[in-house]
Amino acid sequence: MSPDTYGDISFEDRMATADFRVHERPHITVDTAVCVSCPTRPCVPACPAALFVPTADGGLLFNYEHCFECGVCYQVCPADDAIGWSYPDGGFGVVFRKG
Ligand code: SF4
Ligand code: SF4
Repeated sequence: MSPDTYGDISFEDRMATADFRVHERPHITVDTAVCVSCPTRPCVPACPAALFVPTADGGLLFNYEHCFECGVCYQVCPADDAIGWSYPDGGFGVVFRKG
């Protein structure tokens, strides 16, 4: 399953459920040097915001700005030291829209 096919909800509709108040301090950091040797990369299909993007040269790009703060990447990652996770500072991060 790819992030584009999460259930019946399109990627665009999913992203439209939230606004993001981006802080300059990343609340998630990814040590992409560790990711180079990750054989399965479960974070790529698991992230509902499609923030983990493989590159053609075998690397991985990550962008924290549109993160839902769901914690799934942290849970599925098999490496102990690849993902650093903390909550954004107060007033920043995801804001889910009503209705
Ligand atoms: S699952 Fe973890 S180690 Fe593997 S590519 Fe994703 S962040 Fe990197
Ligand atoms: S916390 Fe959720 S939305 Fe944010 S990067 Fe991880 S899987 Fe993606």
